[in-house]
Amino acid sequence: MSESLLGPQDRVLSTLNNDGSRRWLCPRPSDGRFVRQRRVVAWALIVLFTVLPHLRLNGRPLVLLDIINREFTLFGRVFLPTDTLLLALLLLIVFFTVFLVTALFGRVWCGWACPQTVYMEFVYRPIERLFEGTPGKRKPRSMRGLRKFAKFAAFLLVSMFLAHTFLAYFVGTDNLRRWILGSPHEHPIAFLVMAGTTGLMLFDFGYFREQVCIVMCPYARFQSALLDRDSLIVTYDRKRGEPRGKARKEKPGADIALPQLGDCVDCTLCVQTCPTGIDIREGLQLECIGCAQCIDACDAVMEKIGRPKGLIRYSSERAVEEGRRRLVRPRVVIYPLLLVVLLSAFVVVVRSKGSAEFVLLRERGLPFQVMASGEIANQMRIRLTNRTPADAAYTVELVDQPGLRLRADTNPFPAAAGEQVSPRMLILADPSYFDASPKTIRVRISDGAGFERERDFVIHGPRTRSAGGTREEPGDGG
Ligand code: SF4
Ligand code: SF4
Repeated sequence: MSESLLGPQDRVLSTLNNDGSRRWLCPRPSDGRFVRQRRVVAWALIVLFTVLPHLRLNGRPLVLLDIINREFTLFGRVFLPTDTLLLALLLLIVFFTVFLVTALFGRVWCGWACPQTVYMEFVYRPIERLFEGTPGKRKPRSMRGLRKFAKFAAFLLVSMFLAHTFLAYFVGTDNLRRWILGSPHEHPIAFLVMAGTTGLMLFDFGYFREQVCIVMCPYARFQSALLDRDSLIVTYDRKRGEPRGKARKEKPGADIALPQLGDCVDCTLCVQTCPTGIDIREGLQLECIGCAQCIDACDAVMEKIGRPKGLIRYSSERAVEEGRRRLVRPRVVIYPLLLVVLLSAFVVVVRSKGSAEFVLLRERGLPFQVMASGEIANQMRIRLTNRTPADAAYTVELVDQPGLRLRADTNPFPAAAGEQVSPRMLILADPSYFDASPKTIRVRISDGAGFERERDFVIHGPRTRSAGGTREEPGDGG
């Protein structure tokens, strides 16, 4: 009794049967202009995704998201976690670009460029069809187990390749090559990361599949807020298609005239081909990823029955209902304006950053030491990041300080491209240099190739009252 009372009246999710079990989707492939165009785009993106981590600019990776060392290289430029303003601006630019593209073109990203769709529809499903056949053209039952095994073996290989490519963006191709060529005993953590990522890929594309779009992806949830009635979506022309039904011939001399039917012959091919298992004739739904497979399926039917194509088409809600589409709306004016402001701010901040960034730090422990020569030594640590894609050497000088000497193991000190270094130096002074207050001195760092910045540093001596304790001198980089 409870089941009939509590059971849902309609299907809750397109991937769920009413009894709660998984409804496995095997979309029927539909040939047509959109699937052909999407295939070209998909393979171009797959090639790009695979090649990108191997490309280098001035000896550095074009793209490297080194989370462990908290260093991000994009197109030869190094970004650090201290670049909070830049990262915030970058995130805002990404968000507003998504808002604008969705307002104009709906979920074009989901249907044409999202890796989930690209790999699922153009790599994993074709492999599955190769081994198991397509709906309506299933392979014979003999050797079914072997075919399933072969399918998962192929899935595993693709998932391994995909996982390695994905990780190359985070660890770099050199590390990746070492991990692949070395024994798992030498890199147990790396091996586990690889195995885990491969397992996740296999789980996603072999089992979880379209549910990523339906229940996990946050973008689908924002859809109703980001779209308006003039956004481009895949839509069914209800006026033209309804009432739907199979055309029947009127019998000569029959008393009752058959109802006038719309163009939809209710073949359900648009539903059978949908990778998320929905019926677009029920209107725009959260599950629709805008892939246009239903357009291709319906166009083929329309062609066959001699009706104009486009019963399902890319259009907007307003265009289908009122026959006109408004291109200029407040949101498509406001978003680009905001993007121009954000991009300008981004460029200004990037340009204001020097080719190196440094801070001067006081070593922890005693504020100063008395040397055997009787001189007073203050220890200074320079934490410098070379933000350029080339190696450089940096010279440290004390500005206008005749009574002070700088002692360093190496001056100039080297810093490889993108590297952060922390050389230590001693600032030496005669005890008579100091009085009761700490002395603020000026330190200059230059690379002889255009970079030159000065920072203050405070030194202490025996007569300085606040000489006890330790502290760091702030510096804001150059
Ligand atoms: S494919 Fe076209 S004709 Fe067939 S059910 Fe869908 S909308 Fe109707
Ligand atoms: S309804 Fe059409 S466009 Fe939307 S997901 Fe299904 S097949 Fe793709």
